[in-house]
Amino acid sequence: MICLDPGHGTPPAIGRQTEPIGPGSRVMKIKDGGGAPGEAQVALAIGLKTRTLLRRSGFRVAMTRSGPTTTLGNVARAHFCNVRHAALMIRIHADGSPDPSSHGFKTLYPALHRGWTDDIYAASLRAAGDVQRASIRATGALDLGLFPRDDLTGFNWANVPAVLVETGFMSNPRESRLLKTGAYQLKVARGLVAGTEAFLRR
Ligand SMILES: [Zn+2]
Repeated sequence: MICLDPGHGTPPAIGRQTEPIGPGSRVMKIKDGGGAPGEAQVALAIGLKTRTLLRRSGFRVAMTRSGPTTTLGNVARAHFCNVRHAALMIRIHADGSPDPSSHGFKTLYPALHRGWTDDIYAASLRAAGDVQRASIRATGALDLGLFPRDDLTGFNWANVPAVLVETGFMSNPRESRLLKTGAYQLKVARGLVAGTEAFLRR
């Protein structure tokens, strides 16, 4: 079972609510800041294409969101993948930057935090490397590398290996145009599938 989590799409009334950044934490974070302009639609389109390809390769797939909106915050998204005992949770996003020249593909993984991510840290880091490498090969995007994050609710609540792909910059005119095309979304999806397969072969 692979769990796909296309980012955002939580309506503002719910998205503005806050939730603890990790189990037992008093640090609260907004459920969904909405993402970069156009990001939610791009993330969903890539997620649906990835689901199709994964199923074709024989995987079972669950998606936290398969339509334009969801009521799930990031705690609920992690829980959704946890209860399904996913072999991997892939969180699909696109980036935004005040600098329109910023572009490229990066993969985030959970930073090591005792009690929160120590159970998934090593596997998530391996998955991040596999997914990043395969995605760069499939898309030809600039390789921005891997980034550990300790501030992402969806990582800190995950009990299954988890990665988050920033598939490109919505703020970069060329990359944003590419990310909105079915052809490029399919390239990203192929990369995510190849990365998943490499990770599971280990
Ligand atoms: Zn995002």
